[in-house]
Amino acid sequence: MPPTSAAHLRAHDYRYLIERWRVVAKRAGIPLRRLVRADGYDLYALVTPALSLPNGPGLTAAIPKTLPPCEVQPRSQARSEVQLRNEGENEEPRLERSERSRASEPSRRRGCERPRATTDTKNQDSSGARGLAVASPQGASGGEQQLIPFGVYVSAGIHGDEPASTEGLLAWAEAQSPGRFRKLPLLLLPCLNPWGLVNNRRCTETGLDLNRSFHLEKTLPIIGAVKALVAREMNRTRTGDRTGEPPRPRPRSFAASLMLHEDYDGQGVYLYEVARSNRGVNNRKDTTCPWGEALLTAARAHLPTDPRPKIDGRKVAAGVHRRRIDFKRFAKIGYPEAIWLHLEHSERTFTVETPSEFAIEQRVAAQVAMIEKTIENATA
Ligand SMILES: [Zn+2]
Repeated sequence: MPPTSAAHLRAHDYRYLIERWRVVAKRAGIPLRRLVRADGYDLYALVTPALSLPNGPGLTAAIPKTLPPCEVQPRSQARSEVQLRNEGENEEPRLERSERSRASEPSRRRGCERPRATTDTKNQDSSGARGLAVASPQGASGGEQQLIPFGVYVSAGIHGDEPASTEGLLAWAEAQSPGRFRKLPLLLLPCLNPWGLVNNRRCTETGLDLNRSFHLEKTLPIIGAVKALVAREMNRTRTGDRTGEPPRPRPRSFAASLMLHEDYDGQGVYLYEVARSNRGVNNRKDTTCPWGEALLTAARAHLPTDPRPKIDGRKVAAGVHRRRIDFKRFAKIGYPEAIWLHLEHSERTFTVETPSEFAIEQRVAAQVAMIEKTIENATA
């Protein structure tokens, strides 16, 4: 059952949020794990038994051999005129410009400091900055073993002034039967920036934009804890298949990752889908249909798609921006959560945005719809 309006009035009450998560977790019999303490608050994660147990019943069958087909037209047919223009030969310079604009806008606009990936080499580990591009031993570097796509990563509240993200993830969880919840392979992060949520601020207490800080796991306890948790879960040993193949390490990647956000300038729902031609996990090319349009279709029952052709300096077609990765740019502005996941841990990566000026009930409902659609697609 979705939370009531009364709950939404307390959307910035972190203790209340976690209280409600405790109820959901207890009902489903899934531990709410304390990850780390940061800025005076404990951070939590939920890992369902279906993701966590290396040899749980029915799990082998659940591993998709190939990712399920999407419901939208193949990309080549679905391209709008705007998108086709975007993908012309001038794309690279245009994206360079839009990246520049994106880099300078959101953080500064809301008073965050931007950590610098390139000048902070002492504090970043080997996967920081440039190293991120080749950080995945089995994936991006083209190693010998393909990662098995399995499960879904969902995070909310990395920006504390985007409360429909944290409420949306909780509302989705509250609507699940305990049986279904346990059987879905999920890693959920209910709120990555509790201090920001309580204070209605985009950044952390020290003014950092966590979504530009995923190269700073050694200095930022939140980033370190999230990365360690994901690495642990994705490297669990699994058995082979029904043929009786003996157990051996089978590192996994998430079939999909979903980052929940909101935008004060939003006129509807939109999203970023990292283009897999960017050679992330499994060195995979964009050979299957993208899911972005299907997520927006699901959200459209509650909110319109953002009609703007350009958002934060980037060209967007019907609410979808298929992001290309400019490593030099990210090395300067810092790494977002989505890029880390794309390069190291996830087949598909989505950053979804609901418009902050709309009613919170609609925004929460739209977030729930996109979470459900992603999980359905990834576990089909
Ligand atoms: Zn955000």
